[in-house]
Amino acid sequence: MGAPLLFTGPAGVGKRTAALELAKTLNCEGEIAPCDACRSCRKIAAGIHPDVQMIDFSHQARFFDEAMEDQRSLRIEMVQAMKRTLAQKPFEGRWKVTIIDEAHHLTSDASNTLLKLLEEPPPRTLVILLTDHRDQLLSTIRSRCQTVQFRGTPVEEKPSEPLKQAEHLWDQLAPLTPPKWLTLRRQWDHPGKAQRQVAEDLLQALLAVGRQRLPAEDRRLPEVLRAVLDALTAIRQNSHPRIVWDALSLQLHEILRYDPYLLRQ
Ligand SMILES: [Zn+2]
Repeated sequence: MGAPLLFTGPAGVGKRTAALELAKTLNCEGEIAPCDACRSCRKIAAGIHPDVQMIDFSHQARFFDEAMEDQRSLRIEMVQAMKRTLAQKPFEGRWKVTIIDEAHHLTSDASNTLLKLLEEPPPRTLVILLTDHRDQLLSTIRSRCQTVQFRGTPVEEKPSEPLKQAEHLWDQLAPLTPPKWLTLRRQWDHPGKAQRQVAEDLLQALLAVGRQRLPAEDRRLPEVLRAVLDALTAIRQNSHPRIVWDALSLQLHEILRYDPYLLRQ
């Protein structure tokens, strides 16, 4: 262990999930790793484990306090910060794990800095690069890493949790049922980096459910889609998920409550 890993394969086949599972396995405090129940597993799932870092555009946007949509490449500062983090001993886990999502976005400066780190990784550290464009990585980086090729069909393979939640949410929007926003909102409330991802996934699923449940000719469909898209943009621009959520749920309730029979499939 310790040799950097490169997970390649098309988007949506589970590279990110697999990387997080590996981080859980390395740090699990349960009997059968990953147990998904111990403190460490739960922190990793919530994106708040101090020894497990996900570097991606959303991390970078927060790092520089910039808008998500202004992120075009992964800059050298991210790799420098990552090097500093990896140089320290693990805070509470056994391994420090850094995952770089969409590693082909690394600038050449950033790639060269990363290369030095990959050549001499500090003890008890693991770097995992994820990409669906392996050919766009520096060949020196590719040759440093042990490649794991992901195959399989992207998405839809497993009915996703966000999709189920979104369907449930949609049903709660019927005017005759008091909206039970709070239950769903609570699921958004777990703090940390994963929160935005959870919110984003749920909104994406909500878009899909909206399209599916409202007939194309329903005049409310564009309004619904616009409201959800606005919320998605707000999340990506780092608005607080809970605030976005509250605004959206009120809006959707207003839009949808006039035609109850259309709420059902
Ligand atoms: Zn565990």
